[in-house]
Amino acid sequence: MRQTKGPSGGRMRPRPGAVKRRQGKVTPAVMEEILNLLRTTTLRHIDIAKQVGVSRGSIGIIARRERLYESRPAAAPIAFRCPGCHGMIYEKPCRLCEAKAWIARQEIQDLLGYGTNPKNP
Ligand SMILES: [Zn+2]
Repeated sequence: MRQTKGPSGGRMRPRPGAVKRRQGKVTPAVMEEILNLLRTTTLRHIDIAKQVGVSRGSIGIIARRERLYESRPAAAPIAFRCPGCHGMIYEKPCRLCEAKAWIARQEIQDLLGYGTNPKNP
């Protein structure tokens, strides 16, 4: 009977003289350097990878995990309740509350006879 598997029993084994591609884990010091470069520079992932000596893919994984993309897209606005009118707003101050406050000021000035309202000179 012919032997179909080699002497290794079919286990994967690198060719003799093959370059070992897999590098070690990213050490904490290297990780810190990568994060610093991602946060403070606009270097491309490939340039950071070459600089610190890890693969471009690793930089991408770290950037995604830390939400530090190359294009740095603006975060989606988050709506929240206005403490004044309880309407859903995206930024303070609330425009509705500001408008209401403005109208109230006009009405007070009208009542006091200051006459800054063009409708009621
Ligand atoms: Zn409001």
